[in-house]
Amino acid sequence: MHISERVSSISPSSTLAIDAKAKAMKAAGVDIVGFGAGEPDFDTPQYIKDAAIQAILDGKTKYTPAAGTMELRQAICKKFKEENGLDYEPAQIVVSNGAKHSLVNTFEAICDPGDEVIIPAPYWVSYPEMVKIAHGVPVFLPTTEENLFKFTAADLDALVGPKTRAIVINSPSNPTGMVYTEEELRQIAEIAVKHDLYVISDEIYEHLIYEGKHVSIAALGEEIKERTIVVNGVSKTYAMTGWRIGYTASNAALAKVMANLQSHATSNPNSIAQAAALAALGGGQEEIAAMKKAFQERRDYMVNRINQIDGVSCLMPHGAFYVLMNIHALKGKTLGGRLIQTSDDLCDVLLEKAKLALVPCSGFGADDYVRWSYATSMETIQAGLDRLEAFLKDA
Ligand code: PMP
Ligand code: GLU
Repeated sequence: MHISERVSSISPSSTLAIDAKAKAMKAAGVDIVGFGAGEPDFDTPQYIKDAAIQAILDGKTKYTPAAGTMELRQAICKKFKEENGLDYEPAQIVVSNGAKHSLVNTFEAICDPGDEVIIPAPYWVSYPEMVKIAHGVPVFLPTTEENLFKFTAADLDALVGPKTRAIVINSPSNPTGMVYTEEELRQIAEIAVKHDLYVISDEIYEHLIYEGKHVSIAALGEEIKERTIVVNGVSKTYAMTGWRIGYTASNAALAKVMANLQSHATSNPNSIAQAAALAALGGGQEEIAAMKKAFQERRDYMVNRINQIDGVSCLMPHGAFYVLMNIHALKGKTLGGRLIQTSDDLCDVLLEKAKLALVPCSGFGADDYVRWSYATSMETIQAGLDRLEAFLKDA
């Protein structure tokens, strides 16, 4: 039977695939240490769970407006005002089933067939596939380790063509951990306005910055705000990955079409999870600070260890919870009986021989790298690095 060519061409999410593989091996009794999906190891804070239980007891178990409850959208507006200096009305907010869904809605809303979306590389694995789902064409803007994996306004200017519709900015970035400064964002904003581009600003890691501060590009003036879709959610900040709540803030016309789209595709996001997200946004400063402190300690340890191991190296990431490890020097070597030509080769042999699950960055537009997540316990991080070190020594 016929299967759509467009949908057949979409690759599975490698982060989720590796995570599932590592979890299955663990369940089968294999002593595996996994660094697959970027998912905080912390449990959701108790005050959020309590709010969800209360929502069930109060009968908040019915459909809500497709774009999310008024209370939650108001709380999101308050968050934008207080944390990002941005004024939005509830009509400009669409709450969805995770930031992933918010991003899919966004690309669907802005792309016509053949429209190009510029994605700086290395990029999070899902962006190009999401653009393709929306009949758009991903166009990559390469960055280098020497330039701290950041592109400049001039790089962007040079790449814009007649079909360019939008640019994706993800600061702090998955997988590089880099954070754009206000000045860098200001220059990028000027180019976006000059060429009449949308900016998709994925700010899901905004609270996880260890050096520097988060600036939303939308806050840099009315013209850029009008064309920016800010994407955020509760998954990473509040350790709520399984609850599936994300949201967008955009101009009202775009919010309306995204809400319409969602009303046919998924209706509203889960009513209980919306109540939990409302509670999350209203508190949690202590919990966030404690998680951030733990992430920072783990990052420092991981970066230090990696840079002491022969054949691999990494930069110090300033945000999110990933380390991008450069494996270029290992390419062309035979390790564990396998010739290493790609990041996938290395990750396969590490999984098989060292029982270590890392993410190959072939799917992130960066095949000279593999990704570690440090959103896992210090013991796991130590064990993972011990395994890598021992494997590379003996191989
Ligand atoms: N954006 C980035 C950069 C991410 O790493 C993730 C990770 N899941 C998401 C968006 C989506 O998050 P969620 O769907 O869990 O809200
Ligand atoms: N965004 C996280 C990651 O990159 C979670 C998995 C996913 O949604 O891809 O690992």
